[in-house]
Amino acid sequence: MRTAHATHNPPAMFIDSHCHIDFPNFSEGVAPLLANMRAAQVSHALCVSVNLENFPRVLALAEAHDNLFASVGVHPDHDEGREPTVDELVELAAHPRVVAIGETGLDYYRLNREEVDWQRARFRTHIHAARAADKPLIIHTRSAAEDTLAIMAEEGAAVPGGVMHCFTESWEVAEAALAMGFYISLSGIVTFKSAQDLKEVARRVPLDRLLIETDSPYLAPVPHRGRRNEPAYVRHVAEEIAMLKGLPLEDVAAASSRNFFTLFAAASR
Ligand SMILES: [Zn+2]
Repeated sequence: MRTAHATHNPPAMFIDSHCHIDFPNFSEGVAPLLANMRAAQVSHALCVSVNLENFPRVLALAEAHDNLFASVGVHPDHDEGREPTVDELVELAAHPRVVAIGETGLDYYRLNREEVDWQRARFRTHIHAARAADKPLIIHTRSAAEDTLAIMAEEGAAVPGGVMHCFTESWEVAEAALAMGFYISLSGIVTFKSAQDLKEVARRVPLDRLLIETDSPYLAPVPHRGRRNEPAYVRHVAEEIAMLKGLPLEDVAAASSRNFFTLFAAASR
């Protein structure tokens, strides 16, 4: 048998570990997004839930497409909808296409720390649910790193583990999360010229703890900055990290894809 292509490496594959393609920004539907993913060798994407009201829409995407997954959770900035209970999150997370709990965490950017006891209570609820459901956490933290790490430690977030998504904090915060067994996910922000501290974090995060994401429709990486983001663009995030780490793009692609299926073990089933 001829094996002319036996030594040819398969093309690098990228995985968008965090997107919101159920948002109204994508009113044309996901078909063009999936086509653009294929063209850019982006093999999978995780559609992240931000409230219970729209969770059915997120789940429907993961049910309809083999290469899309879902999470369940209520974003810390969401202050209008229904408050989740541990039992409800655990029940929704039992669905085989739901691979994580989140996004959850703390955000003191818009509201002051003193105003948001409910954010901290909700974050604890999500950690309890992740432990009970045995699924990892997707954690959002903005202007709240100290409290986020403290609650993670108090509630045993290291048990289910998870990812610090769209990471923009210092190396010290990254180190504390890594020490709890967490992964660090970098978004298009790492491609911005102004993000020098984050570029340094990218250089230092161990390759076996790194994930990549778009957080689309937000935060489009250079060269799409300022426009609507989409999962296909996660490739630019990987390119920037490869450049910063001085590694071949294939290495960043392979490691971040492997990490995705290690962390979100339910995605491999
Ligand atoms: Zn998000």
